Amino acid sequence: MKNFNLDSLIRKNIKILQPYSSARVEYPGDALVFLDANENSYGSPLDVNYNRYPDPLQLKLKDELSKIKGIPPQNIFIGNGSDEVIDLAYRIFCEPGKDNVIICPPTYGMYKVCANINDVSIKEVNLTQEFRLDVEAILQSVDSNTKLLFICSPNNPTGNNMNRIDIELLLNNFPGIVIIDEAYINYSRQKTFLQELTEYENLVVMQTLSKAWGLAALRLGLAFASEKIIELFNKVKPPYNINLSSQQLGIKALSGIEKVNENIKSTVEQRNILQQQLGQFDFIRKVYPSDANFILVKAADADSLYKYLSAQKIVVRNRSKEPLCENCLRITVGTPQENEILVGALRNLTPTPLRKRAN
Ligand SMILES: *Cc1c(COP(=O)(O)O)cnc(C)c1O
Repeated sequence: MKNFNLDSLIRKNIKILQPYSSARVEYPGDALVFLDANENSYGSPLDVNYNRYPDPLQLKLKDELSKIKGIPPQNIFIGNGSDEVIDLAYRIFCEPGKDNVIICPPTYGMYKVCANINDVSIKEVNLTQEFRLDVEAILQSVDSNTKLLFICSPNNPTGNNMNRIDIELLLNNFPGIVIIDEAYINYSRQKTFLQELTEYENLVVMQTLSKAWGLAALRLGLAFASEKIIELFNKVKPPYNINLSSQQLGIKALSGIEKVNENIKSTVEQRNILQQQLGQFDFIRKVYPSDANFILVKAADADSLYKYLSAQKIVVRNRSKEPLCENCLRITVGTPQENEILVGALRNLTPTPLRKRAN
């Protein structure tokens, strides 16, 4: 975006906010005795001591992330899950009851929930029938109070990448902050937008350690952006938003990238196998292509298929109430054993599954 003016997008109360200054930020050095934070110097009932407050800026974890992602630590923010990153974006940029954001359904549900919590109105510009961004409609729906645009790529629940040229058009023409949610980027054939951060001041790339890194329980969501935007996130976040065990386990996990890459490879292989198998059932009308670790399918009757699978204790996600997703189920790619259980249950539904197409 030419003539991008970050200052004009920030809420006034956030611009003038005096952030909380924690004890460790005021005295960052090594002291002889720490009697500044009302911590419990006697320790805890646990073997490992968790009695001291953790690093508010998670610098060690950011150093490791920086090496893997090729992005300087000062351009990285870590949230208590991506959910916190999304919520902070609303609280930094959107005046409740006044500003609005654009989302592109069918997409991730938290963008809307966070908008509702923050009393920010949303403009929904649906994807096209082909699950592409409707660039023209998005730009037409912008008004002087439009602050954020959420683009999910690969998109949940459709599984496809958004077109790169479309995203670049939006980065060049949307007057607010463009947040690209890359939660599933490690499974994708498309490359990340991280390298575009130096080119676009209005870009925030979100990633997470919850999916390909397999750390959903630790709640480690990532945002990459200009230093100025990262400073705003740091200013508004709760001082100790990432607990010590998440920081430590996150660092440990980042040293195991080989295992992660193996698992990504297996997931992608299993995705291809499962797509082919699902395509053979006559009650599954369409198997959508996927660049993520899940597959969207259009069933003849999603509700009854969902109920049947539930009765077999197999849980998938019913997305049939989402726009453009009539009769659609979203199925996560599991281990070979899990996928076999799923396919076995589907085979039992039709004793001799009709081959729909020759693939
Ligand atoms: C799973 C997912 C996330 C990850 O959320 P966390 O809070 O980091 O676990 C983010 N965005 C999308 C679109 C997702 O599907």
